[in-house]
Amino acid sequence: MLSAGRRAFSAVARPRLHEAVVPSFARSPAALRRLLSALAVLEQRDGKLNTGSLSAVTAAQKLGGSIHAFVAGSSIKGVAEEAAKVEGIEKVIAVDNGAYDKGLPENYAPLLVENIKKGGYTHVIAGHTAFGKNLMPRVAALLDSQQISDVTNIENDKTFVRPIYAGNAIATVESSDPIKIITIRGTAFPAAPVAGGSAAVEDGVDPKAESPTEWVSEDLAKSDRPDLATAGRVVSGGRGLKSKEDFDKVMLPLADALGAAVGASRAAVDSGYADNSLQVGQTGKVVAPQLYMAVGISGAIQHLAGMKDSKVIVAINKDADAPIFQVADVGLVGDLFDKVPELTEKLSKA
Ligand code: FAD
Repeated sequence: MLSAGRRAFSAVARPRLHEAVVPSFARSPAALRRLLSALAVLEQRDGKLNTGSLSAVTAAQKLGGSIHAFVAGSSIKGVAEEAAKVEGIEKVIAVDNGAYDKGLPENYAPLLVENIKKGGYTHVIAGHTAFGKNLMPRVAALLDSQQISDVTNIENDKTFVRPIYAGNAIATVESSDPIKIITIRGTAFPAAPVAGGSAAVEDGVDPKAESPTEWVSEDLAKSDRPDLATAGRVVSGGRGLKSKEDFDKVMLPLADALGAAVGASRAAVDSGYADNSLQVGQTGKVVAPQLYMAVGISGAIQHLAGMKDSKVIVAINKDADAPIFQVADVGLVGDLFDKVPELTEKLSKA
């Protein structure tokens, strides 16, 4: 057994982007609350609210002003009514139009911009998800604003913290754009619970803008396992697994024994051991589960960028000098083909 403390990975940079826009006389907490109004952009799929997107509401609550939520798609009433139950949301703006079902940014951006203008919001917040990353830069461009991405903390109405250089430094960004367009890292803001609220639901404006883009089809990987991005436990395999057959033979029983989601390093994905949707890291999913188990993963910085905020990190690797041990809380040096089946058997009997 080898145990290693975690390295500190943060440095601080303070790029000042603009001068403050809220005058100093108006910066008392009560005055600020009157001035600030946030729009939380929520996601839905097939008429079901993506509750993970309620992280945007939690982030908006940190601002202390009024909060509206925005949803769009066909038969959106049920989604809007569910969102209205979230405590802290004052109003849900809903646009019922199937053109917005798939969140195509070419359609969605002009829609959101019209509703932002109508509502006069100071902050617009979405998740740093595929949807948010696709949409919000376009919204920012249309509003001639600067987008602030992947925010992990909101210090005040104009100061935001975000990781840069694959998480190796932390930047504190000040913005005085009149409308701040923000995406937030879901793992940094727990989703607001669907309880305790009774917001009004109102129809939003629908510009029905002409779009050169149309939805053709989708090919979704189906799995009964927990969702990788939100699972409390994740077991990830790397190139050390050697083949897809071995990846499945070793990692899936371990995941079943722990009730965990399965993840993978990019090398494992590129080698065809695991599906692309399972990649964890800088160019994959960012996760922060209670337990992250890295099996046969060396610990390249691009992988660490996607998992180093996990609460407990366990690493199994035959190389005692593998960098993964520098961020691991618990390390096991040994051959994964011996150690993992043994561990799985013990966990299954426990
Ligand atoms: P390797 O580095 O090859 O490590 C395999 C490990 O398995 C080794 O440590 C070895 O000791 C161990 N091992 C081998 N056999 C056994 C055994 N029998 N028992 C126990 N241990 C064993 N990577 C990501 O993961 N996610 C990303 O999002 C990502 N984005 C990237 C973006 C860019 C721009 C670039 C340049 C790279 C990115 N990478 C990403 C790739 C990254 O740099 C590494 O190449 C990759 O993470 C390595 O994967 P790995 O640890 O599985 O493989």
